[in-house]
Amino acid sequence: MGMSDNRPVRVRMAPSPTGYFHLGSARTALFNWLFARHTGGKFILRVEDTDRTRYVPDSLQDIVDSLGWLGLDYDEGPGVGGDCGPYFQSERLPIYHEWSDWLIRAGHAYRCYCSEERLDALRREQAARKDEALGYDRHCRYLTAAQRSEHEAAGGPSVVRFAMPTEGQTSFTDVLRKLKPWENSQVRDPVLIKSDGFPTYHFANVIDDHFMAITHILRGDEWISSVPLHVNLYRAFGWEMPIYAHVPLILDPSGVGKLSKRKKRAAGDEELLTFVREYREAGYLPEAMFNFLAIMGWSYSPDTDLFTREQAIAKFDIADINPAAGALPMSKLDWMNGHYIRQLAAADLTERIAPFWSQESGIPLEQLHADPALPIVVPLIQERIKTLAEGWDLVDFAFVAEINYEPTMLIAKGLNAAQTLAALKSLHRVLAELPFDEAVLDPALRNLAGELGLKVGQLFGILRVATTGKAVAPPLFGSLLALGRERVLARCTRAEELLRALS
Ligand code: GLU
Repeated sequence: MGMSDNRPVRVRMAPSPTGYFHLGSARTALFNWLFARHTGGKFILRVEDTDRTRYVPDSLQDIVDSLGWLGLDYDEGPGVGGDCGPYFQSERLPIYHEWSDWLIRAGHAYRCYCSEERLDALRREQAARKDEALGYDRHCRYLTAAQRSEHEAAGGPSVVRFAMPTEGQTSFTDVLRKLKPWENSQVRDPVLIKSDGFPTYHFANVIDDHFMAITHILRGDEWISSVPLHVNLYRAFGWEMPIYAHVPLILDPSGVGKLSKRKKRAAGDEELLTFVREYREAGYLPEAMFNFLAIMGWSYSPDTDLFTREQAIAKFDIADINPAAGALPMSKLDWMNGHYIRQLAAADLTERIAPFWSQESGIPLEQLHADPALPIVVPLIQERIKTLAEGWDLVDFAFVAEINYEPTMLIAKGLNAAQTLAALKSLHRVLAELPFDEAVLDPALRNLAGELGLKVGQLFGILRVATTGKAVAPPLFGSLLALGRERVLARCTRAEELLRALS
């Protein structure tokens, strides 16, 4: 886009490690990543871990794993390094203190000694008065030097507050939306450094974006209301401001932050899952996820929703983000996932689906991989599944010693048990004699149907049930090959016994 800014593009993802990586965060990360890759800029991961009370230990690993799974590699950050580290805010405390001292000396910030009790009482008073400008009353902003020294000498706890302009307005430009100016009087001297010495989100965020030379801030629109303070901080420091683009949330806010307990989605459930890890566990491909997230608020082309990473990189522009976009339904993702599954080479799909089938069947992964039936059945179901969590119930017959089914299922429509038994015996004979090869078996069995005066569908149906135990199964000849002649013949023998008992 025609940005006036001519610094090299640097964008960042700045998650707080307070929970698993959310779908909305992934979409924001994706847009940042696309913009960095499109412009040849840098994508940075910074961990905003200053809120110790909300810290969730395994969430950073989840964020890093999820970014990796989606292929959103970062150029600087945890585990990667870079010139602007440390990339954990908890390791940057001296930097925040240095610059809060600077602001105090410059008269843009001050120490506040107000006790929790005083602040509570203030809040209650304001609520009772229905005071519109809720917030700190700036009591400590106007302390005399003597009062200040007294507080310092007493050595009690204190915070650092920003001395917001008390009048006038603050406005800023957002690439994606028009925003009304804010009244400065509404922002009442927010805390920059808490009494425990940790910075607040606002302060650390501005300091880091500056020292990490961030040029564009692309993030969720829930942060819009904090920008007026940030703008005033940039002004107080005399620093160049980044370019802002706030993107809309894509999820029902009720899902935000909650750890979902759902394991499996009910068919037809259109509601999006909450966390990236849930999509991975539900058998979605990262290729599909990437594509799906990209079209939540961005459009590649009016003609198609399907595109590769390279195509998206080539075309991506912040200015094309739709600021009004909402969530897409799961059915769209299912459709996309089916598309990307069909695109995979069979060996690749085998590699990816085996862990899901192993989990579902309880068959150890190595055993499944060693089974010669696996590479035969995967291509048979490739066209039929929408997620990697599917397909096992179509192919399980090829991996178990015995199949169980209702014997009457064997009886072909229009035939009785005795006629079906006779047909099966003929099948058995042909299958025992001929080379086990689709090119030979297919015409031979069609021929046999003619000889027996049966429809091809009737004959194939009998054989399908006898060998797979299912009325609906993958293509017949592929299924026979997956089983191998020996098992096919044994299952025919077993089916003949069942039919004899019925006739
Ligand atoms: N730590 C904030 C978050 O968790 C960062 C917001 C921002 O991008 O400025 O989303």
